[in-house]
Amino acid sequence: MLLTKKELKLIFSDNVSTAVQSVRDRHNLSFEDAMNMIHNEVFQIKPSWIKRFMEQAKLIASWSKDPSTKCGAVITDNKCRIVSEGFNGFPQRFPDKPYLLYNREMKYNLTVHSEINAIIFANKPLNDCIIFSWPMIPCCRCAAVICQTGISCVIYPELSADLKERWGKSEKLSKEIFDKCGINHIELPLSIFGE
Ligand SMILES: [Zn+2]
Repeated sequence: MLLTKKELKLIFSDNVSTAVQSVRDRHNLSFEDAMNMIHNEVFQIKPSWIKRFMEQAKLIASWSKDPSTKCGAVITDNKCRIVSEGFNGFPQRFPDKPYLLYNREMKYNLTVHSEINAIIFANKPLNDCIIFSWPMIPCCRCAAVICQTGISCVIYPELSADLKERWGKSEKLSKEIFDKCGINHIELPLSIFGE
């Protein structure tokens, strides 16, 4: 990641010029080069749109019937058009009865993750698309699938303290997968979303 957490916070709280100054100081760049780096290398689309799509992923997540972790994913192209959306849940037509939703083993084996649902329902090539995941980085199994789709950028909030224990190990592996496969991944501070 080319930007620090502080710079990301500045950019998403509409304090872009301070962030650009910080990037200029760290990389010894002209104003124009720093702006280009932020917009072209880091973000494929404007930060204001990133915030909107993350809020959208958060909304989609709320539709999940999973009693513990509700996840949402939004896939867009690099012209800010929504290509697909998904949340985690059982396959279509499978009865999502409470006794199954609360049976951890059954749930683990049956649940289709939000990212996979979004990829399947897109039903078209996803080259150079962006995937937004809420409330965390895609798990390592989804990360591997994302790499196969041609998606070039993954955006997600940092792992909250309560998710860290259960998902910390997967988070590390997901980041390694994205790095090794050359996928741009951007972790946004939770505070941007009022969390
Ligand atoms: Zn997953």
